[in-house]
Amino acid sequence: MIKREYLREDLRNLKAYQAGQQSCTLKLDANENPYPIPLEIRAQLASELLNGNDYQLYPDSDANSLRDALAKQLKVSRDNILVGNGSDELLHIVTTAFAGPGDKVLCPSPGFGMPGYYARLTGAIPVDYPLNKQFQYSLPKIELAIMEHRPKIIHICSPNNPVGSVMPVSDIAYLARRFDGVVVVDEAYYEFYGETMADKINQHPNVIVLRTFSKAMGMAGLRVGYLVSNKYLVDEIYKVKPPYNVNSFSQRAAELLLEHRDIQMERVQEIIESREWLYQALDGLRGVEPYHSHANFILIKVKDGLAVYKGLLEKGILVRHFAENPMLKNHLRITIGRSEDNKFILHSLAEVLTNMEEW
Ligand code: PMP
Repeated sequence: MIKREYLREDLRNLKAYQAGQQSCTLKLDANENPYPIPLEIRAQLASELLNGNDYQLYPDSDANSLRDALAKQLKVSRDNILVGNGSDELLHIVTTAFAGPGDKVLCPSPGFGMPGYYARLTGAIPVDYPLNKQFQYSLPKIELAIMEHRPKIIHICSPNNPVGSVMPVSDIAYLARRFDGVVVVDEAYYEFYGETMADKINQHPNVIVLRTFSKAMGMAGLRVGYLVSNKYLVDEIYKVKPPYNVNSFSQRAAELLLEHRDIQMERVQEIIESREWLYQALDGLRGVEPYHSHANFILIKVKDGLAVYKGLLEKGILVRHFAENPMLKNHLRITIGRSEDNKFILHSLAEVLTNMEEW
């Protein structure tokens, strides 16, 4: 075994990210889209696969065709966009581009874990800034954290994962004007909400918007994300991007999905309606406190998070628990499924809670 001195001292206590691998019949733990990619897109991809797409060649390292399609949709230029292997890779790349050893990176808490994780990988120091008691963003708390820590990067996730709360774009714009460093706005759940900073990148030279094809576009397995920013920052981030980071099949699939965006947006509308239905229904369940969400999931608070998680799993339903996080100990995050999935989880949750009362 290699001597410990050859390992990175600062990563010794870092636990490798582990994706959930529980088997289940209804997977509602990772905010995936319940609908498969439309059949006509799969048929088109299959035919291109059979009829000679050049898979013996490397993909277009710059994903130019996809970037052009995105630029057209977003009404920006190709130079304002960079494509990544999921927005996860972009979080890593952006962190590496702007934060080095000892730099501080501000991340919302509760919030998505990866920005802090990538900060540690670069040797930077992740610092949590708190949301308020109802897990809403609080401008004063963020400004206080900026004054105290003088970070290089501040992350805003809107809608926030795992809560579903949002920061109004006017507040993000205000913050971007007041703060000199990089403002990363993670809009992974944008389509379920509708407000964006992507059309304001030219007014804010320090803003980087992250988006993904994994959620509303239903392409989590093919790993495509993109960022939108001004050319100066995009050029800087390009220095860190690995060559050929997105394979040609996925680039093409994303392009086809953009062409059929209307089909996916109809499904997004259905998911939003299901979310509102489920929120009302959960709100009526004794022992459950749901949080209002602008994304494709709902966070709930229960008395014993882990027991409810296990009860649901026994019925084949996998949701996300946060037992490792003291702030979210008795919280569970439920991905919005099809309407029959929502009825099933509601019914199962009611049963689990009733059984627990009878213990
Ligand atoms: N940002 C947020 C807020 C997320 O919830 C996720 C996925 N859970 C990602 C980024 C990463 O998504 P992907 O890499 O699939 O684009």
